[in-house]
Amino acid sequence: MGVVAIIGAGATGLGIAWDLLLRGVEVVIVEKDEVAGGTSGRFHGLLHSGARYAVTDPEAARGCAEENAILRSIAPDAIEGVGGVFLRKKTDPLEFEDRWVDACISAGIAVTPAPLPVIHSEIPGLAADITSAYRVSDAVLEGFSLIEMLVKSIDRLGGKVLENTLATGVEAEGEAVTGLIVSRGGASQVIGCDAVVNAAGPWAGEVGRMLGGEISVRPSRGTLLIFADRRFNTVINRLVPPGNGDIFVPHKRVLIFGTTDVGQESPEPPPPARNEVVNLIKIGQEVFPDLADWRLIRAFNGVRPLYRGKDDGRSSRELSRDFVIVNHSDDGGPQGVFSVVGGKWTTFRLIGEKCGDRIAEYLNIDRACASKEVNIAPLPKKAFTPLSAIACECERVAEAEVGDASESPTKLRLRSWFAMGPCQGTFCAHRILGRRDDTGAELAELRAEREKGIFPVSWGDTAKMLAMQRSVRFQALGEPWDD
Ligand SMILES: Cc1cc2nc3c(=O)[nH]c(=O)nc-3n(C[C@H](O)[C@H](O)[C@H](O)COP(=O)(O)OP(=O)(O)OC[C@H]3O[C@@H](n4cnc5c(N)ncnc54)[C@H](O)[C@@H]3O)c2cc1C
Repeated sequence: MGVVAIIGAGATGLGIAWDLLLRGVEVVIVEKDEVAGGTSGRFHGLLHSGARYAVTDPEAARGCAEENAILRSIAPDAIEGVGGVFLRKKTDPLEFEDRWVDACISAGIAVTPAPLPVIHSEIPGLAADITSAYRVSDAVLEGFSLIEMLVKSIDRLGGKVLENTLATGVEAEGEAVTGLIVSRGGASQVIGCDAVVNAAGPWAGEVGRMLGGEISVRPSRGTLLIFADRRFNTVINRLVPPGNGDIFVPHKRVLIFGTTDVGQESPEPPPPARNEVVNLIKIGQEVFPDLADWRLIRAFNGVRPLYRGKDDGRSSRELSRDFVIVNHSDDGGPQGVFSVVGGKWTTFRLIGEKCGDRIAEYLNIDRACASKEVNIAPLPKKAFTPLSAIACECERVAEAEVGDASESPTKLRLRSWFAMGPCQGTFCAHRILGRRDDTGAELAELRAEREKGIFPVSWGDTAKMLAMQRSVRFQALGEPWDD
């Protein structure tokens, strides 16, 4: 059948692997960090209905609408069907509302007008000048759960995920690719394969060049804020053309608000900046006038891998959220090498299907995509019961969920959700990581990582809270003081 090597274990790479495995193709995924260490672990958590893009990007909108329905059926455990609303303020253009309703209807996206008194009673604190409201089928996509489910499903079908493995080049015989060169544990090795897929997200440009092709990626940074309270149970979108600070997503016990769109050269996000936070809050106050008083936990950011064709001078906000698949041999590169750029978390399965079609054609495999019908493996239910011994109080993580020390602290945190609540791991990180061999280094790394997101939001009560957490860590828990 053939072996396919995939570079990047984000939503895109895992979606492609899942599609190929269901067609009977052997798959090896290489990831330079840990699974979901890139953009797929730093997103807004929204399963789009497609309505956001209906006017400006109808192709992407249609894709989101179809995938929204498919994912609810194949991965229900990773989706919270909260629904969404689009709200127009009196000062927002009515003309856009009319165009948006028409565009949603032609993209097959259901929109239902909602009475304003009902909306105000469901969403406390809304600005008084909300003039129109529509319900759509937005939902919450629990990215880390879906990643874990995909990894489990891939493993069950014999796929391999190699973490901490950097792709560094390809080998070819004649014109066709025969191997992916990787660096793993300081040693170079070759993974024999019949095709290579570059699913390196914002790094796809540099990886594409390494594979012998010119892939034009526009990294675009988005900043998000996490508020401590889940104040309402629906996704809120502002009914305006996509812009900054126009979406609120309730996620587990918190609320995620954002985002921004800033073009940058590097695929890596810099630490979130205070001025970005302040600007976002100002924009958000137009919808929730008392937003500045809501308790902030932290800020974080991620980098979108947008595709920009050659000589495309558009800004990152104007670039499509759709995806492209580039066959490197079309531009004189080796046969059997493909790059995938763009798309949304919401459309990861569709990207997998389309990429799977191209690779199946290249490898002469006559098996159609099955990922629409096959359920992605669910996760075991949470072990917490009222009598469980508790490891993390904020997020109610039971001792039994913490497991052994074989997982990295990041994996353990994202699986169990310890250190993610209002106290950002003040006690539980100490308690949980304190049992491990490399406690000092692991704890210092976690503290630094959490504080990177707390500093830009630390004023008022949050600043007091941070000072208190630091002094508890220093005085009561005996951790080093770090200026
Ligand atoms: C702020 C923000 C908010 C967003 N919100 C939403 C949302 O609410 N809903 C939605 O549907 N979409 C959202 N998106 C878009 C979505 O998150 C991305 O489209 C998606 O996560 C991209 O996944 P990916 O797998 O292509 O990239 P990534 O997740 O970045 O994966 C690429 C992987 O490749 C690895 N890699 C790179 N180079 C190498 C190498 N040489 N060797 C080995 N591995 C390598 C990286 O470490 C990385 O893990 C958002 C994006 C951003 C930035």
